[in-house]
Amino acid sequence: MLQEKCAVFGVYGTNPLIEAARLVHTGLWALQHRGQESSGIVSSDGNNLFVHKGMGLVAHVYDEQCFNILKGTLAIGHNRYATFGPSEASHVQPVMSQDQNLAMAHNGNLPATTKLSEFLTSKGISPRFNNDSEMMYKAVAYYFTKGLTLPEAVAKAFPLFTGVFSALFMSKDTLVAVRDRRGIRPLSLGKIDGIGYVISSETCAINTIGGEYIRDIKPGEMLFIDKTGVQTKQLSKGKEMLDAFEFVYFSRPDSFLAGQSVNEVRKEFGRQLARENPNIKADVVIPIPDSGIPAAIGFAQESGIPFDIGLIKNRYIHRTFIRPAQSLRKSDVRLKLNPLPSVLKGKRIVLIDDSIVRGTTSEEIVKLLRQAGAREVHFLVSSPPVCFPDFYGINTPDQSELIAATKTIPEIKKMIEADSLAYLSLKGLIKAIGLPVENICTSCFTGEYPIDIDFNKEKIKYC
Ligand code: AMP
Repeated sequence: MLQEKCAVFGVYGTNPLIEAARLVHTGLWALQHRGQESSGIVSSDGNNLFVHKGMGLVAHVYDEQCFNILKGTLAIGHNRYATFGPSEASHVQPVMSQDQNLAMAHNGNLPATTKLSEFLTSKGISPRFNNDSEMMYKAVAYYFTKGLTLPEAVAKAFPLFTGVFSALFMSKDTLVAVRDRRGIRPLSLGKIDGIGYVISSETCAINTIGGEYIRDIKPGEMLFIDKTGVQTKQLSKGKEMLDAFEFVYFSRPDSFLAGQSVNEVRKEFGRQLARENPNIKADVVIPIPDSGIPAAIGFAQESGIPFDIGLIKNRYIHRTFIRPAQSLRKSDVRLKLNPLPSVLKGKRIVLIDDSIVRGTTSEEIVKLLRQAGAREVHFLVSSPPVCFPDFYGINTPDQSELIAATKTIPEIKKMIEADSLAYLSLKGLIKAIGLPVENICTSCFTGEYPIDIDFNKEKIKYC
C-alpha cells in the first residue's frame, strides 16, 4: 500500500476568461513542500477534461505548451510524495479518466481498504494494482457513471472511505471538496474576487494566487461548487482532530491551520521549550533550517540567549528523509547542511530541530557542529518523542526505525553524542498549539489513533 503525504489544489473559475490550470500551477508551486515526486493537473473547459502529469518537481513537470492543452475555467492539481512502494509514474495523481469525465486528487491515506475493495469486487470492478486513492476514485466513478451527479456520487461512496482524506473531485462542470470526519489533513476554501473559488491543502497557496481565505472545509463536510455557486452538505458527524505534525513539520509557516498561524505556534513551541529547560547555559541558539527556525527564534526570545544562523542549507536539496538507504540519508545531511565555524567555534550551542525521527539528522549534525569547533551541543527538539508511525498520509518509517520507540532519551543523547537532549513535553505542545486537546491528533507521540488503523494495530507496540 502506498502512503502519501501530498498537496491538493483546485480552482473553480466564475469568469469565463480564467485559465484555471495556470492558477493551479502556481498553487502547486506554493505547495511543493508537501510532495516532490510527481505533479499533475486536470482541467475542464465544460465539455472535456484535459490532463498533464509527470514525475518530478512542479518546476520540471510543466512548460508553456501544457497550458495550451490544459484549457478551461475548472482545474484540480496534485503534488505527490509516495513513501512506500515504488515511486511510479502510473500512480501520479490526479487519478482521472477522460471517458468518465472524472478526476480526483487525494491527500491522506486509508490505513485499511477492505470495505472499498469488497465494494468494488461486488460490482465487478477489480481493485488489483490500485492504491487507496485509485480505489476511492473507482467507487465514485461507479456511482457517477450510473447517472448520479458528482456530489451525489461522492456522498454515496463516502462511507467506503475508511481513513484519512482531504480530497478534490471534479467533473466537467463541478468541483467537489471533501474531508474525513476527523479533519486530520487540512483543506481550506478561498476566493479571488472576479475570478472564482479556490480549494487548497494549505492557506499559504491561496495567498500566493492572490486569493482570500474564507474558511476551512469542516471535518465530514462535502463542499461543492458549480454554476449555482458554493453549496455544502455534512456527510458525517465531524469532530476536528487536526494532525499535530502539521504544526510541527509539514505545513508551511505562512499557513494558518484551524485558525492558528503555523509560524506563531512554532515560535511558541520554542518559548515553551525554553520554559521547560531553564537551566541550560549556552552562548548561542542555532536552528536546523528550515523547520527549526521559528522554534529557535522563540527559544532565543524566552531564554535571552542570542539567535544565530550556524548552518547553511543548500536550497536545491529537498526533504531528504525518504532516501531508501541509511548511508544515503547520512550523506544527504552533509550535502544539505554546512556549518559556519565563525559562528560555532568555541561556543556552547543550543541546537533546535522540529523533530527526531530516525535520528540520522541529529547524529550527523552534532558531529558537524563539533568538527566546526562547537564546545558544547545541547540538542533541543520542539516536539515530543516520535514513538509511533503515522498511518494517515505522512511519511514515517516502521516503528522499529523510530529512535524514540526503541531507545530512552539518555540512550538517544548518547547515540547522537550531544551534551544534553530534551524534547518538548506533550502538554507543552498542546498548550502552544492553542487548540483544545480533543481537537488535535497526537498519534505520532501517543499512539492514540482517532481513525481506525485496522490490521496495522498488530504492528504497534506500546511500552
Ligand atoms: P531523522 O533524521 O530521521 O531523525 O529525521 C528528522 C528530521 O527530518 C528533522 O530535521 C525533521 O525536520 C525532518 N522530518 C521529520 N518528519 C519528516 C517527514 N515525514 N519527511 C521528511 N522529513 C521529516
